[in-house]
Amino acid sequence: MDPLFASSIFFLGLAFGSFLNVCIYRLPLGLSVVAPRSACPRCKRPIAFYDNLPVLSWLILGGRCRHCKAKISARYLFIELLTGVLFLSCYAYLGLTLATLKYCVFGFLLLGLIFTDAETKLLPDKLTLPGLALGVAFSLIVPVDDVASQFLPVMLNLPFSAALATHLFSLVDSLLGAALGASFIYGAGAVYLRWRGMEGMGFGDVKLMAMVGAFLGMKLTIFTIFTASLAGSLFGLATVLMVWIKRTHRFARRLANLQAARQRGWQSAQMVYRHYQMPFGVFLGSMALLALFVGNQFLRWYGRLWW
Ligand SMILES: [Zn+2]
Repeated sequence: MDPLFASSIFFLGLAFGSFLNVCIYRLPLGLSVVAPRSACPRCKRPIAFYDNLPVLSWLILGGRCRHCKAKISARYLFIELLTGVLFLSCYAYLGLTLATLKYCVFGFLLLGLIFTDAETKLLPDKLTLPGLALGVAFSLIVPVDDVASQFLPVMLNLPFSAALATHLFSLVDSLLGAALGASFIYGAGAVYLRWRGMEGMGFGDVKLMAMVGAFLGMKLTIFTIFTASLAGSLFGLATVLMVWIKRTHRFARRLANLQAARQRGWQSAQMVYRHYQMPFGVFLGSMALLALFVGNQFLRWYGRLWW
């Protein structure tokens, strides 16, 4: 790793993280991310450029507005650092290549979607749709190397060196990934709606997975969906258990009978479970990030277990 390149890419990541904060705040509100300049949400005074430097300004001002001293969430700092680390990891992983650019773009979009979904339960089209287009476009310059790229040349009896064919197969892989991701989530959403009588996955998730599929191809899309379902289920289970324990303690103070307290606590936890809407995009996005870095190693390891 070249230290000069590494630090430049890290600072670039911080700057993009700063922009991502603007996107996360403004996109769900339907506001432009370009104009006007950022202002303090409380005193509405515009933030000067020297108070808007990534990480540094937040630390210098102690996480408060210069004028009205309103608190500025540490999330701003966190997202800047996270984007910086993401860009640096992509560079460490893939060097100074077009693949690094592709992964930085993909990771940037994912971070934006994860945090927007966590805060507002929305996955803005302004991130997912351009993301889908970018994923398909990137497949023409950075090979997706999935099922189509591996099997079509053999099936069609083409020489592997045909450069044009390689790009074409990569494009097919990207489109297949997008179609698989979108249709799987759409189908799962329809089943969920029937089963629980409420919407578990919206069209935002469908578009998110179309984007993920376009970037990663079919195999890693399946990896993403399965690990996200697993992580989401574990999270749901942990939430219900925690609510049960907490409520049981609360009821135990009022009711002499511990058995009754446990029962009331359980009813209460069931109620929370029924009304809780999980931001599934958070899990899908996080697992897509995981797939980006370790998905292929995992699939190879898993393949060796069976064949
Ligand atoms: Zn202020």
